[in-house]
Amino acid sequence: MYISKLFLPILKNNPSEAKIKSHQLMLRVGMIKQSSAGIYSWLPLGFKVMKKIEKIVREEQNKIGAQEILMPTIQSSEIWKESGRYEDYGEEMLRIKDRQNREMLYGPTNEELVTDIFRSSIKSYKSLPQLLYHIQWKFRDEIRPRFGIMRCREFYMKDAYSFDVSDDEALFSYNKFFLSYLKTFNRLDLTAIPMAADTGPIGGNLSHEFIILAETGESKIFTDKRIFDLSIKNEKLEKKSLENMRKKYENYYSVTDEKFNKEEFEKKVLSENRLITKGIEVGHIFYFGDKYSKSMGASVDLSGGKKDFVKMGSYGIGVSRLVGAIIEAKYDDKQEVMKWPISIAPYDISIIPMISKNDSSALEKANNIATELQNNKIEVIIDDTEENFSSKIKKMNLIGAPYQIIIGKQTDGDLIEFKEVGKDSQNLKLKDIIKLIIEQKAKN
Ligand code: ATP
Ligand code: MG
Repeated sequence: MYISKLFLPILKNNPSEAKIKSHQLMLRVGMIKQSSAGIYSWLPLGFKVMKKIEKIVREEQNKIGAQEILMPTIQSSEIWKESGRYEDYGEEMLRIKDRQNREMLYGPTNEELVTDIFRSSIKSYKSLPQLLYHIQWKFRDEIRPRFGIMRCREFYMKDAYSFDVSDDEALFSYNKFFLSYLKTFNRLDLTAIPMAADTGPIGGNLSHEFIILAETGESKIFTDKRIFDLSIKNEKLEKKSLENMRKKYENYYSVTDEKFNKEEFEKKVLSENRLITKGIEVGHIFYFGDKYSKSMGASVDLSGGKKDFVKMGSYGIGVSRLVGAIIEAKYDDKQEVMKWPISIAPYDISIIPMISKNDSSALEKANNIATELQNNKIEVIIDDTEENFSSKIKKMNLIGAPYQIIIGKQTDGDLIEFKEVGKDSQNLKLKDIIKLIIEQKAKN
Protein backbone atom coordinates (compact mmCIF):
# COMPACT_ATOMS: atom_id res chain seq x y z
CA MET A 1 0.00 0.00 0.00
CA TYR A 2 1.36 3.41 -1.00
CA ILE A 3 1.34 6.00 1.72
CA SER A 4 0.27 8.66 -0.79
CA LYS A 5 -2.92 6.76 -1.52
CA LEU A 6 -3.89 6.10 2.09
CA PHE A 7 -6.32 8.14 4.11
CA LEU A 8 -3.65 8.95 6.66
CA PRO A 9 -3.84 12.55 7.81
CA ILE A 10 -0.52 12.88 9.67
CA LEU A 11 0.15 16.11 11.58
CA LYS A 12 3.61 17.70 11.82
CA ASN A 13 3.27 18.38 15.54
CA ASN A 14 1.42 17.10 18.55
CA PRO A 15 -2.10 18.54 18.81
CA SER A 16 -2.27 20.80 21.84
CA GLU A 17 -5.59 19.46 23.14
CA ALA A 18 -4.15 16.00 23.85
CA LYS A 19 -2.87 15.53 27.38
CA ILE A 20 -1.63 11.94 27.30
CA LYS A 21 0.59 10.21 24.80
CA SER A 22 -1.98 7.79 23.39
CA HIS A 23 -4.33 10.63 22.60
CA GLN A 24 -1.45 12.62 21.09
CA LEU A 25 -0.33 9.80 18.83
CA MET A 26 -3.84 8.81 17.77
CA LEU A 27 -4.63 12.36 16.65
CA ARG A 28 -1.15 12.90 15.23
CA VAL A 29 -1.30 9.93 12.83
CA GLY A 30 -5.02 10.24 12.20
CA MET A 31 -6.29 7.08 13.86
CA ILE A 32 -9.40 8.84 15.14
CA LYS A 33 -11.26 12.08 14.72
CA GLN A 34 -13.46 13.58 17.37
CA SER A 35 -17.01 14.19 16.18
CA SER A 36 -18.37 15.62 19.43
CA ALA A 37 -17.41 15.46 23.11
CA GLY A 38 -16.37 11.89 23.91
CA ILE A 39 -17.55 10.58 20.51
CA TYR A 40 -15.09 9.61 17.81
CA SER A 41 -14.89 8.38 14.25
CA TRP A 42 -12.33 5.67 13.68
CA LEU A 43 -10.19 6.36 10.62
CA PRO A 44 -8.50 3.59 8.59
CA LEU A 45 -5.31 3.26 10.65
CA GLY A 46 -7.08 3.25 14.02
CA PHE A 47 -9.87 1.02 12.79
CA LYS A 48 -7.41 -1.53 11.44
CA VAL A 49 -5.71 -1.83 14.83
CA MET A 50 -9.00 -2.02 16.72
CA LYS A 51 -10.29 -4.78 14.41
CA LYS A 52 -7.15 -6.81 15.02
CA ILE A 53 -7.57 -6.45 18.79
CA GLU A 54 -11.21 -7.48 18.41
CA LYS A 55 -10.16 -10.60 16.51
CA ILE A 56 -7.83 -11.72 19.31
CA VAL A 57 -10.47 -10.99 21.94
CA ARG A 58 -13.00 -13.04 19.94
CA GLU A 59 -10.64 -16.00 19.46
CA GLU A 60 -9.94 -16.21 23.18
CA GLN A 61 -13.66 -16.05 24.02
CA ASN A 62 -14.37 -18.87 21.57
CA LYS A 63 -11.59 -20.97 23.09
CA ILE A 64 -13.39 -21.18 26.45
CA GLY A 65 -16.62 -22.15 24.73
CA ALA A 66 -18.35 -18.76 24.77
CA GLN A 67 -20.81 -18.23 21.91
CA GLU A 68 -21.00 -14.95 20.04
CA ILE A 69 -24.27 -13.08 19.66
CA LEU A 70 -25.07 -9.51 18.71
CA MET A 71 -27.49 -7.45 20.77
CA PRO A 72 -28.72 -4.02 19.68
CA THR A 73 -27.31 -0.73 20.93
CA ILE A 74 -30.78 0.69 21.60
CA GLN A 75 -32.76 -1.00 24.35
CA SER A 76 -36.21 -0.67 25.81
CA SER A 77 -36.49 0.80 29.32
CA GLU A 78 -38.92 -1.99 30.32
CA ILE A 79 -36.31 -4.59 31.19
CA TRP A 80 -34.29 -2.02 33.14
CA LYS A 81 -37.38 -1.24 35.20
CA GLU A 82 -37.70 -4.96 35.96
CA SER A 83 -34.17 -5.16 37.31
CA GLY A 84 -34.53 -1.88 39.15
CA ARG A 85 -31.56 -0.28 37.44
CA TYR A 86 -33.53 2.23 35.36
CA GLU A 87 -33.54 4.57 38.33
CA ASP A 88 -30.22 3.45 39.81
CA TYR A 89 -28.08 3.99 36.74
CA GLY A 90 -28.49 7.75 36.87
CA GLU A 91 -27.12 10.35 34.50
CA GLU A 92 -24.66 8.09 32.72
CA MET A 93 -27.52 6.44 30.88
CA LEU A 94 -28.52 8.17 27.66
CA ARG A 95 -32.29 8.09 27.61
CA ILE A 96 -34.21 8.52 24.38
CA LYS A 97 -37.89 8.65 23.41
CA ASP A 98 -39.09 7.18 20.13
CA ARG A 99 -41.96 8.61 18.03
CA GLN A 100 -44.51 6.56 20.00
CA ASN A 101 -43.18 8.22 23.12
CA ARG A 102 -41.68 4.94 24.33
CA GLU A 103 -38.74 5.23 26.68
CA MET A 104 -35.64 3.78 25.08
CA LEU A 105 -31.98 4.01 25.96
CA TYR A 106 -28.56 3.54 24.41
CA GLY A 107 -27.16 0.49 26.23
CA PRO A 108 -24.35 1.21 28.73
CA THR A 109 -24.11 -2.56 29.43
CA ASN A 110 -26.29 -5.58 28.71
CA GLU A 111 -27.11 -7.65 31.81
CA GLU A 112 -30.83 -7.00 31.43
CA LEU A 113 -31.03 -7.63 27.71
CA VAL A 114 -29.08 -10.87 27.84
CA THR A 115 -31.11 -12.11 30.84
CA ASP A 116 -34.25 -11.45 28.83
CA ILE A 117 -32.83 -13.45 25.91
CA PHE A 118 -31.84 -16.26 28.23
CA ARG A 119 -35.14 -16.55 30.12
CA SER A 120 -37.19 -16.74 26.95
CA SER A 121 -35.31 -19.79 25.62
CA ILE A 122 -33.43 -21.77 28.25
CA LYS A 123 -35.59 -23.79 30.62
CA SER A 124 -33.51 -26.70 31.86
CA TYR A 125 -30.32 -27.17 33.83
CA LYS A 126 -29.29 -29.56 31.04
CA SER A 127 -28.59 -26.59 28.77
CA LEU A 128 -26.16 -25.03 31.27
CA PRO A 129 -23.62 -23.58 31.39
CA GLN A 130 -24.32 -20.94 28.78
CA LEU A 131 -21.57 -18.42 28.04
CA LEU A 132 -22.70 -15.68 25.67
CA TYR A 133 -20.75 -12.66 24.49
CA HIS A 134 -21.00 -9.83 22.04
CA ILE A 135 -18.76 -7.07 20.82
CA GLN A 136 -20.76 -3.92 20.46
CA TRP A 137 -20.79 -0.15 20.98
CA LYS A 138 -21.82 1.11 24.38
CA PHE A 139 -22.78 4.59 25.46
CA ARG A 140 -22.17 6.09 28.88
CA ASP A 141 -22.75 9.78 29.31
CA GLU A 142 -19.51 10.24 31.26
CA ILE A 143 -19.44 13.49 33.21
CA ARG A 144 -15.90 14.25 32.08
CA PRO A 145 -14.94 12.42 28.89
CA ARG A 146 -11.18 12.76 28.53
CA PHE A 147 -7.95 11.31 27.19
CA GLY A 148 -9.44 10.59 23.78
CA ILE A 149 -10.87 7.11 23.42
CA MET A 150 -9.62 6.10 26.88
CA ARG A 151 -12.59 7.63 28.65
CA CYS A 152 -15.13 8.52 26.05
CA ARG A 153 -18.89 8.33 25.84
CA GLU A 154 -19.34 5.94 22.94
CA PHE A 155 -16.93 3.01 23.15
CA TYR A 156 -16.50 -0.50 21.84
CA MET A 157 -16.74 -3.27 24.40
CA LYS A 158 -16.68 -7.02 24.52
CA ASP A 159 -19.14 -8.08 27.16
CA ALA A 160 -19.86 -11.66 28.10
CA TYR A 161 -22.39 -13.24 30.42
CA SER A 162 -22.41 -16.62 32.12
CA PHE A 163 -25.43 -18.64 33.28
CA ASP A 164 -24.98 -21.57 35.63
CA VAL A 165 -26.98 -23.90 37.79
CA SER A 166 -25.03 -23.41 41.05
CA ASP A 167 -22.48 -21.14 42.72
CA ASP A 168 -19.86 -23.80 42.26
CA GLU A 169 -20.46 -24.10 38.52
CA ALA A 170 -20.66 -20.33 38.23
CA LEU A 171 -17.21 -19.99 39.80
CA PHE A 172 -15.92 -22.39 37.18
CA SER A 173 -17.28 -20.09 34.48
CA TYR A 174 -15.77 -17.09 36.27
CA ASN A 175 -12.38 -18.78 36.30
CA LYS A 176 -12.62 -19.62 32.59
CA PHE A 177 -12.99 -15.92 31.84
CA PHE A 178 -10.22 -15.10 34.29
CA LEU A 179 -7.90 -17.36 32.28
CA SER A 180 -9.14 -16.15 28.93
CA TYR A 181 -8.46 -12.54 29.97
CA LEU A 182 -4.88 -13.31 30.98
CA LYS A 183 -4.36 -15.02 27.63
CA THR A 184 -5.97 -12.24 25.65
CA PHE A 185 -3.79 -9.55 27.22
CA ASN A 186 -0.68 -11.71 26.78
CA ARG A 187 -1.37 -11.98 23.08
CA LEU A 188 -1.61 -8.19 22.97
CA ASP A 189 1.83 -8.10 24.56
CA LEU A 190 0.45 -6.49 27.72
CA THR A 191 0.97 -7.49 31.33
CA ALA A 192 -2.48 -7.04 32.80
CA ILE A 193 -2.72 -7.79 36.51
CA PRO A 194 -5.99 -9.02 38.01
CA MET A 195 -6.87 -6.94 41.05
CA ALA A 196 -9.60 -7.44 43.57
CA ALA A 197 -12.20 -4.77 42.90
CA ASP A 198 -15.44 -3.28 44.08
CA THR A 199 -18.48 -4.31 42.13
CA GLY A 200 -20.09 -0.87 41.67
CA PRO A 201 -23.52 -0.58 40.00
CA ILE A 202 -23.26 -4.13 38.59
CA GLY A 203 -23.59 -5.51 42.14
CA GLY A 204 -22.47 -8.87 43.50
CA ASN A 205 -19.54 -10.03 45.56
CA LEU A 206 -16.62 -11.37 43.51
CA SER A 207 -14.88 -9.11 41.08
CA HIS A 208 -11.49 -8.50 39.47
CA GLU A 209 -10.25 -5.63 37.39
CA PHE A 210 -7.47 -6.28 34.89
CA ILE A 211 -5.05 -3.39 35.03
CA ILE A 212 -1.97 -2.49 33.06
CA LEU A 213 0.59 -0.21 34.63
CA ALA A 214 0.78 3.31 33.21
CA GLU A 215 1.63 6.64 34.77
CA THR A 216 -1.33 8.20 33.01
CA GLY A 217 -3.78 5.61 34.33
CA GLU A 218 -6.80 6.72 36.30
CA SER A 219 -6.77 3.83 38.77
CA LYS A 220 -4.49 3.98 41.77
CA ILE A 221 -3.12 0.55 42.56
CA PHE A 222 -1.38 -1.13 45.47
CA THR A 223 0.34 -4.34 44.60
CA ASP A 224 2.95 -6.90 45.40
CA LYS A 225 5.65 -6.78 42.73
CA ARG A 226 6.02 -10.55 42.75
CA ILE A 227 2.66 -10.86 41.02
CA PHE A 228 4.42 -9.77 37.81
CA ASP A 229 6.45 -12.97 37.83
CA LEU A 230 3.39 -15.18 37.63
CA SER A 231 2.46 -16.66 34.31
CA ILE A 232 -0.04 -19.01 32.79
CA LYS A 233 1.31 -21.81 30.71
CA ASN A 234 -0.77 -24.79 29.73
CA GLU A 235 -3.73 -24.28 32.00
CA LYS A 236 -6.47 -26.78 31.26
CA LEU A 237 -10.13 -25.85 31.31
CA GLU A 238 -10.69 -27.91 34.42
CA LYS A 239 -12.32 -26.81 37.64
CA LYS A 240 -9.54 -27.59 40.04
CA SER A 241 -6.65 -26.26 38.00
CA LEU A 242 -8.48 -23.02 37.16
CA GLU A 243 -9.37 -22.47 40.79
CA ASN A 244 -5.71 -22.97 41.71
CA MET A 245 -4.63 -20.56 39.01
CA ARG A 246 -6.90 -17.82 40.36
CA LYS A 247 -5.77 -18.51 43.92
CA LYS A 248 -2.16 -18.22 42.78
CA TYR A 249 -2.88 -14.64 41.71
CA GLU A 250 -4.99 -13.89 44.77
CA ASN A 251 -2.12 -14.93 47.01
CA TYR A 252 -0.45 -11.63 46.22
CA TYR A 253 -2.01 -8.47 47.57
CA SER A 254 -3.17 -6.47 44.59
CA VAL A 255 -6.02 -4.00 44.76
CA THR A 256 -7.27 -0.70 43.38
CA ASP A 257 -7.79 2.23 45.75
CA GLU A 258 -11.46 1.39 46.29
CA LYS A 259 -10.43 -1.76 48.15
CA PHE A 260 -7.17 -0.48 49.63
CA ASN A 261 -6.50 -1.18 53.28
CA LYS A 262 -3.20 0.20 54.55
CA GLU A 263 -2.88 -2.15 57.50
CA GLU A 264 -3.52 -5.23 55.40
CA PHE A 265 -1.12 -4.05 52.68
CA GLU A 266 1.70 -3.50 55.15
CA LYS A 267 1.05 -6.77 56.89
CA LYS A 268 0.91 -8.89 53.75
CA VAL A 269 3.61 -7.25 51.62
CA LEU A 270 7.20 -6.73 52.70
CA SER A 271 8.29 -3.18 52.05
CA GLU A 272 10.72 -4.18 49.29
CA ASN A 273 7.87 -5.86 47.40
CA ARG A 274 5.39 -3.01 47.69
CA LEU A 275 4.42 -1.14 44.57
CA ILE A 276 2.09 1.84 44.63
CA THR A 277 1.44 3.22 41.20
CA LYS A 278 -1.20 3.92 38.60
CA GLY A 279 -2.83 1.80 35.98
CA ILE A 280 -5.41 1.56 33.24
CA GLU A 281 -8.39 -0.73 33.60
CA VAL A 282 -8.70 -2.79 30.43
CA GLY A 283 -11.08 -5.46 31.67
CA HIS A 284 -13.44 -6.16 34.53
CA ILE A 285 -15.17 -9.37 35.58
CA PHE A 286 -17.98 -9.82 38.09
CA TYR A 287 -19.84 -12.62 39.78
CA PHE A 288 -23.23 -11.55 41.04
CA GLY A 289 -25.25 -14.76 41.53
CA ASP A 290 -28.98 -14.27 41.12
CA LYS A 291 -29.07 -10.47 41.24
CA TYR A 292 -30.65 -10.20 37.78
CA SER A 293 -32.10 -13.67 37.37
CA LYS A 294 -34.20 -13.22 40.50
CA SER A 295 -35.56 -9.78 39.71
CA MET A 296 -36.19 -10.76 36.09
CA GLY A 297 -37.43 -14.29 36.68
CA ALA A 298 -34.75 -16.28 34.85
CA SER A 299 -34.94 -19.77 36.29
CA VAL A 300 -34.36 -23.33 35.10
CA ASP A 301 -35.72 -26.74 36.05
CA LEU A 302 -33.27 -28.62 38.25
CA SER A 303 -32.65 -32.36 38.10
CA GLY A 304 -34.86 -33.12 41.13
CA GLY A 305 -37.88 -31.34 39.69
CA LYS A 306 -37.42 -28.05 41.56
CA LYS A 307 -36.72 -24.72 39.91
CA ASP A 308 -34.00 -22.22 40.74
CA PHE A 309 -32.78 -18.88 39.54
CA VAL A 310 -29.64 -19.13 37.42
CA LYS A 311 -26.34 -17.84 38.76
CA MET A 312 -24.80 -15.18 36.58
CA GLY A 313 -21.56 -13.34 35.99
CA SER A 314 -20.52 -10.65 33.52
CA TYR A 315 -17.19 -9.99 31.89
CA GLY A 316 -16.09 -6.83 30.04
CA ILE A 317 -13.10 -5.86 27.96
CA GLY A 318 -12.67 -2.33 26.67
CA VAL A 319 -11.75 -3.12 23.09
CA SER A 320 -11.49 0.50 21.97
CA ARG A 321 -9.75 1.55 25.20
CA LEU A 322 -7.14 -1.14 24.55
CA VAL A 323 -5.94 0.71 21.47
CA GLY A 324 -4.99 3.63 23.71
CA ALA A 325 -3.72 1.41 26.51
CA ILE A 326 -1.32 -0.36 24.14
CA ILE A 327 0.00 2.98 22.92
CA GLU A 328 0.51 4.09 26.53
CA ALA A 329 2.55 0.92 27.08
CA LYS A 330 4.52 0.89 23.82
CA TYR A 331 4.99 4.46 22.59
CA ASP A 332 8.24 6.26 23.32
CA ASP A 333 7.04 9.83 23.11
CA LYS A 334 10.49 11.34 23.69
CA GLN A 335 11.96 9.62 20.61
CA GLU A 336 8.54 9.72 18.90
CA VAL A 337 8.76 6.02 18.09
CA MET A 338 5.81 3.66 18.22
CA LYS A 339 6.23 -0.08 17.91
CA TRP A 340 2.97 -2.02 17.67
CA PRO A 341 3.05 -5.64 18.81
CA ILE A 342 3.10 -7.66 15.58
CA SER A 343 -0.19 -9.36 16.56
CA ILE A 344 -2.12 -6.13 16.03
CA ALA A 345 0.19 -3.84 14.05
CA PRO A 346 -1.61 -1.93 11.28
CA TYR A 347 1.25 -3.00 8.98
CA ASP A 348 3.89 -5.62 9.65
CA ILE A 349 6.63 -3.74 7.84
CA SER A 350 7.26 -0.35 6.25
CA ILE A 351 9.43 0.10 3.19
CA ILE A 352 11.24 3.40 2.87
CA PRO A 353 12.78 3.90 -0.60
CA MET A 354 14.82 7.02 -1.42
CA ILE A 355 13.09 8.53 -4.41
CA SER A 356 13.99 11.64 -6.38
CA LYS A 357 12.38 13.36 -9.34
CA ASN A 358 14.54 11.67 -11.93
CA ASP A 359 15.29 8.40 -10.21
CA SER A 360 12.53 6.02 -9.22
CA SER A 361 14.63 2.86 -9.28
CA ALA A 362 14.37 2.54 -5.48
CA LEU A 363 10.60 2.58 -5.74
CA GLU A 364 10.75 -0.20 -8.29
CA LYS A 365 12.86 -2.26 -5.92
CA ALA A 366 10.40 -1.48 -3.13
CA ASN A 367 7.52 -2.69 -5.27
CA ASN A 368 9.27 -5.98 -6.03
CA ILE A 369 10.10 -6.57 -2.38
CA ALA A 370 6.53 -5.67 -1.37
CA THR A 371 5.09 -8.22 -3.82
CA GLU A 372 7.23 -10.97 -2.31
CA LEU A 373 6.25 -9.97 1.22
CA GLN A 374 2.56 -9.77 0.38
CA ASN A 375 2.70 -13.20 -1.25
CA ASN A 376 3.70 -14.39 2.21
CA LYS A 377 0.75 -12.62 3.85
CA ILE A 378 2.95 -9.88 5.28
CA GLU A 379 1.26 -6.47 5.36
CA VAL A 380 3.35 -3.71 3.82
CA ILE A 381 3.24 0.06 3.67
CA ILE A 382 5.51 1.84 1.19
CA ASP A 383 6.45 5.49 1.42
CA ASP A 384 6.25 6.43 -2.27
CA THR A 385 6.69 10.18 -1.71
CA GLU A 386 9.69 12.28 -2.68
CA GLU A 387 10.15 13.70 0.81
CA ASN A 388 13.58 13.64 2.40
CA PHE A 389 14.82 10.60 4.20
CA SER A 390 14.56 11.87 7.76
CA SER A 391 10.97 13.01 7.42
CA LYS A 392 10.05 9.65 5.90
CA ILE A 393 11.61 7.82 8.81
CA LYS A 394 9.84 10.10 11.28
CA LYS A 395 6.49 9.37 9.71
CA MET A 396 7.02 5.61 9.68
CA ASN A 397 8.18 5.71 13.30
CA LEU A 398 4.83 7.23 14.24
CA ILE A 399 2.78 4.78 12.20
CA GLY A 400 4.54 2.07 14.15
CA ALA A 401 5.03 -0.98 11.91
CA PRO A 402 7.45 -3.09 13.98
CA TYR A 403 9.86 -3.66 11.06
CA GLN A 404 11.36 -1.40 8.42
CA ILE A 405 13.24 -1.85 5.15
CA ILE A 406 15.33 1.01 3.86
CA ILE A 407 16.21 1.19 0.17
CA GLY A 408 18.92 3.63 -0.73
CA LYS A 409 20.74 4.20 -4.02
CA GLN A 410 23.36 1.65 -3.06
CA THR A 411 20.90 -1.16 -2.30
CA ASP A 412 21.80 -3.72 -4.88
CA GLY A 413 22.11 -7.43 -5.10
CA ASP A 414 20.77 -9.74 -2.46
CA LEU A 415 21.21 -7.87 0.79
CA ILE A 416 18.56 -5.50 2.09
CA GLU A 417 18.81 -3.00 4.94
CA PHE A 418 16.35 -4.30 7.51
CA LYS A 419 15.54 -2.96 10.93
CA GLU A 420 13.43 -4.02 13.83
CA VAL A 421 12.19 -0.78 15.36
CA GLY A 422 14.27 0.07 18.42
CA LYS A 423 17.21 -2.09 17.30
CA ASP A 424 20.18 -1.66 14.98
CA SER A 425 19.72 -2.27 11.30
CA GLN A 426 21.25 -5.28 9.60
CA ASN A 427 21.67 -6.47 6.02
CA LEU A 428 19.61 -9.55 5.28
CA LYS A 429 18.39 -11.52 2.33
CA LEU A 430 14.71 -11.09 1.56
CA LYS A 431 13.98 -14.73 2.23
CA ASP A 432 15.46 -14.41 5.72
CA ILE A 433 13.41 -11.29 6.41
CA ILE A 434 10.27 -13.15 5.38
CA LYS A 435 11.20 -16.09 7.56
CA LEU A 436 11.83 -13.88 10.56
CA ILE A 437 8.51 -12.05 10.24
CA ILE A 438 6.52 -15.22 9.66
CA GLU A 439 8.07 -16.71 12.78
CA GLN A 440 7.17 -13.67 14.85
CA LYS A 441 3.60 -13.68 13.59
CA ALA A 442 3.24 -17.40 14.29
CA LYS A 443 4.10 -16.86 17.95
CA ASN A 444 0.67 -15.37 18.28
P1 ATP B 1 -14.17 2.74 34.63
O1 ATP B 1 -13.91 2.34 36.05
O2 ATP B 1 -12.92 2.95 33.81
O3 ATP B 1 -15.17 3.84 34.51
P2 ATP B 1 -16.14 0.76 34.54
O4 ATP B 1 -15.73 0.00 35.72
O5 ATP B 1 -17.29 1.65 34.61
O6 ATP B 1 -14.88 1.51 33.94
P3 ATP B 1 -17.00 -1.66 33.22
O7 ATP B 1 -18.44 -1.51 33.37
O8 ATP B 1 -16.25 -2.59 34.06
O9 ATP B 1 -16.33 -0.22 33.29
O10 ATP B 1 -16.68 -1.87 31.65
C1 ATP B 1 -15.80 -2.85 31.11
C2 ATP B 1 -14.65 -2.20 30.40
O11 ATP B 1 -15.07 -1.24 29.43
C3 ATP B 1 -13.71 -1.45 31.31
O12 ATP B 1 -12.79 -2.32 31.92
C4 ATP B 1 -13.04 -0.48 30.34
O13 ATP B 1 -11.95 -1.13 29.71
C5 ATP B 1 -14.10 -0.20 29.32
N1 ATP B 1 -14.72 1.11 29.56
C6 ATP B 1 -15.58 1.43 30.54
N2 ATP B 1 -15.95 2.73 30.47
C7 ATP B 1 -15.29 3.24 29.39
C8 ATP B 1 -15.27 4.53 28.77
N3 ATP B 1 -15.98 5.55 29.25
N4 ATP B 1 -14.47 4.70 27.68
C9 ATP B 1 -13.76 3.67 27.18
N5 ATP B 1 -13.77 2.44 27.71
C10 ATP B 1 -14.52 2.21 28.80
MG1 MG C 1 -14.90 -1.53 35.89
